[in-house]
Amino acid sequence: MKILICGGAGYIGSHMVKMLSEAGYDVVVFDNLSTGHREAVKWGTLVVGDLLNKSDLKALFEQHDFAGVMHFSARSLVGESIVEPAIYYENNVVGTYNLLEQMRHSGVDRFIFSSTAAIYGNPENTPIDEAHPKQPINPYGHSKLMVETMLNDYARAYGINSVSLRYFNAAGADPSAQIGESHDPETHLIPNILRSLLLEGIQLKVFGDDYDTPDGTCVRDYIHINDLCQAHLKAFDYLGSHKGAMAFNLGNGTGFSVMEIINAVTEVTSKVVDYSVEARRPGDPAVLIADSQRAVKDLNWIAEYTDIEKVIETAWRWHCQQSY
Ligand code: UDP
Repeated sequence: MKILICGGAGYIGSHMVKMLSEAGYDVVVFDNLSTGHREAVKWGTLVVGDLLNKSDLKALFEQHDFAGVMHFSARSLVGESIVEPAIYYENNVVGTYNLLEQMRHSGVDRFIFSSTAAIYGNPENTPIDEAHPKQPINPYGHSKLMVETMLNDYARAYGINSVSLRYFNAAGADPSAQIGESHDPETHLIPNILRSLLLEGIQLKVFGDDYDTPDGTCVRDYIHINDLCQAHLKAFDYLGSHKGAMAFNLGNGTGFSVMEIINAVTEVTSKVVDYSVEARRPGDPAVLIADSQRAVKDLNWIAEYTDIEKVIETAWRWHCQQSY
């Protein structure tokens, strides 16, 4: 079975490509390499192209007969989305619209979409389940919710069936350390801590220690990248027997504060993290924890990496191999 992975050169996409290839799928990666890395595509076929270029999409779908599409191509920095919303509406909304239109034209009707906890906005309760009000507080969240809305309409009108997976904090790397998390600029907590241990003269900044949480730092739900990808595999199977546009939260269900993550890194690496406490980062809610019971029940999915140190260990292994 041939699957198209849009954004397969990125962090989550590249792990998905590996997992699908190892599960016996034929994988084609479509990526414009704007934030992804050519060297991360170690399995399958890479086609360099842009979702904003309809002729790239037309040629791709003419050349291959896809059983389904997994879509990871998106801009995903909240801060950037506030300063440059146009980039987010163009890439995340128009790009996805072009992709869905090409799928419709080519008769491809299985779609897995990378959505986000950012569609919920400021949590009104915790943990967050799928029924939580959807009130994004930044253009990134808005762009993802717009696509989810589009997917509901495309399922009803055109029979394109989809699963939107609302990620909480993806973390870690494949245990083989062949692929990992690499962004430029890096904004995520775990890679920033690990980079501060490996790079000369880099000190970690902790964004705020005066939140209403037990130790004052923000609490997040870190889900291992391979647990996340497993859920995509299960969602793809699920679409074989379920019609419509469905959505599932994906998290571990346990929250860890920034300080707890720093301490866990010290446990794993035996190194002391040098940090300074800075002002709060705009747009960071105090606590984000997923209720993923719907995915557990309906997709028959279960997170295997429930131990945060095991998650960090896989990230550390990969970071140690990078030539910083
Ligand atoms: N954070 C931090 N220092 C960093 C990066 C992140 O203190 O260098 C904090 C951030 O303010 C948030 C948490 O770590 O409370 C997780 O941030 P990340 O960017 O990894 O994910 P987000 O939850 O924003 O998607």
